[in-house]
Amino acid sequence: MSSAAPNVTRPLLAWTSDHYAVALPEAHPFPMAKYPLLRERLLEEGVLAAANITRSEPAPLDWLLAAHDRAYIKRALSGGFDAAEVRRLGLPWSPALAERARAAVYGTVMASRAALAHGVAGNLAGGTHHAFRDRGEAYCLFNDHAIAIQLLRAEGRVRRPFVVDLDVHQGNGTAAIFAGDADVFTYSLHARSNYPREKERSTLDVELDDGAGDVEMLHALGATLPAALDAHTPDVAFYQAGVDALHADRLGRLTVTHAGLAERDRRVFGWLAERGVPVVITAGGGYARPLELTVEAHANVWKAAKAVYVPDSRTESR
Ligand SMILES: [Zn+2]
Repeated sequence: MSSAAPNVTRPLLAWTSDHYAVALPEAHPFPMAKYPLLRERLLEEGVLAAANITRSEPAPLDWLLAAHDRAYIKRALSGGFDAAEVRRLGLPWSPALAERARAAVYGTVMASRAALAHGVAGNLAGGTHHAFRDRGEAYCLFNDHAIAIQLLRAEGRVRRPFVVDLDVHQGNGTAAIFAGDADVFTYSLHARSNYPREKERSTLDVELDDGAGDVEMLHALGATLPAALDAHTPDVAFYQAGVDALHADRLGRLTVTHAGLAERDRRVFGWLAERGVPVVITAGGGYARPLELTVEAHANVWKAAKAVYVPDSRTESR
């Protein structure tokens, strides 16, 4: 039953949406450029094969409806946001932005289907965990995890989804969407004093103090995540593998190193693989400067997945 059965070559499949170019004002802090750099780096290092990276298309409307209000979707797709909504989103609305957000949803939905077939698959974008049913926040227009989970459940493919959200910010939108839904476990490990100031209630929130580093982060994770997995017995996991806990991150407040994040990823994939839980990888946040530091950390997530799930084709790290 283990998805981590050795000697099985399975493709490591990924979806990308970086072909949807979104122009942002020059000084805008959102690192749109990290997405193509991540794809290029994974190809260069042989972590992913070009043939296994699919270009996402805009998700159809009925997918978005699986986790969002119709009126909100309409505003999000048509540019009907008022000034407060745009401010809360933190990104200037444009048709291209809406298109790209739909594509990111598509990637996570397709990756979730592939993960059930292969044990692991992912999206080089997504992890937009600050999107609520009826509003967007903090660069997140649609909640790709919530949409994919609701679609898989509606299709009868899964019953006990589990969200492993290790972005440094709480997965508040995901927590709110699944509040009171005992079949979906939302796990969020984040910095206590970081955005969002008003936290939602996840099934389990694990909070780190400002300045926490590798030891504190790995300890908190190890003390809670395996037990939560055992308690919930999930049939699929969505990994929001945000890398904004990195010391160099502008929005993080923590002091985690690249090695600490890589160890985090190895452990998460190891725990899921041991339990035979298919995993859907999504990118999540990462705002370090220079950008290369963030790209490296995102790439390391995929290297860790490859090492655990496709061990017979492990790529030597540099
Ligand atoms: Zn974040």
